[in-house]
Amino acid sequence: MTVYILSGKVVCGDCGSLCAGLTYTNRAGKGRRYFYYRCQKKCGNRQIPKADLEQAVIDRIADQVFSDEATQRIVKRVQEMYAEWRKTSGSQREVIEQEIRDLERKIDNWLEALGEGIGNRQALIEKVNAATDKKEYLERELLKIQAMEHVPQISEQEIMKVMNKKVTINDVRNAVNAALDTAFPGIPILDEEIKQGLTPPCFFVRLLEPEHTQELGRRFFRYHPFVVRYFAQDRSNAVMYDMAEKLTTALQQIEVAGRPVRGTGMRFEIIDEVLHFFVEYNFHVWAPRLDDPKMRTLDVQEGLK
Ligand SMILES: [Zn+2]
Repeated sequence: MTVYILSGKVVCGDCGSLCAGLTYTNRAGKGRRYFYYRCQKKCGNRQIPKADLEQAVIDRIADQVFSDEATQRIVKRVQEMYAEWRKTSGSQREVIEQEIRDLERKIDNWLEALGEGIGNRQALIEKVNAATDKKEYLERELLKIQAMEHVPQISEQEIMKVMNKKVTINDVRNAVNAALDTAFPGIPILDEEIKQGLTPPCFFVRLLEPEHTQELGRRFFRYHPFVVRYFAQDRSNAVMYDMAEKLTTALQQIEVAGRPVRGTGMRFEIIDEVLHFFVEYNFHVWAPRLDDPKMRTLDVQEGLK
């Protein structure tokens, strides 16, 4: 089914009536279909091809969202929110610190009771475990607050850096490497072909053909298919299957430029005693207007969507 996203939202420039979607089927031309928006009053204003109108509207929205004024407003708001947060962070920190001290005292008491065999053993163990989990959570929260408190204020440049974050192919490669490194800290990751002197175990990470397809206006879909090859010391199938399973977990989600991206199309093959693990990371990016003089560079500025 064709979706006319602008139906009832666009007004005819001649008579002011709402416009609606319209489909023609050309029976002579093998049933080819044509899609338009047209004034509902049929006042005589011409119909507009669906793709052209939708692209124009999306381009205008993107321009406004990414305009200098909009960016400035966001910078200002982030700085205000940070200032507000700073005002209350001190008392927040004290509350958390107090709560941690209380939990520590309780844990000590329960451990003592356990040691002396007082009370219900199982219930005490559960209490200690629950309190320990809570304490660890609070300690992480405290670290976050402390880290934020070390930043006196957030500069405009820093906010802009985050907002204009370009997602490059290398960001995706780095994210794959980082995920492997976290899951398998002892196994080196090589990304160039080394034919000789290879010491297993090791991984080879290769990006196959990345693809870029235009969806609508300046919205693109980017495909990043990877193959991770695993060279094992023990080349038995059991080791390969075990690694394939671990890779499925490790590469299920990676963090590209601060945002999670899910791996899709995961599959593997064992070729000449080497595990080939395939995974794709695909996502939307916005490309700026190429006729914008500020953007007239080959280096397309993109943001993860
Ligand atoms: Zn009209």
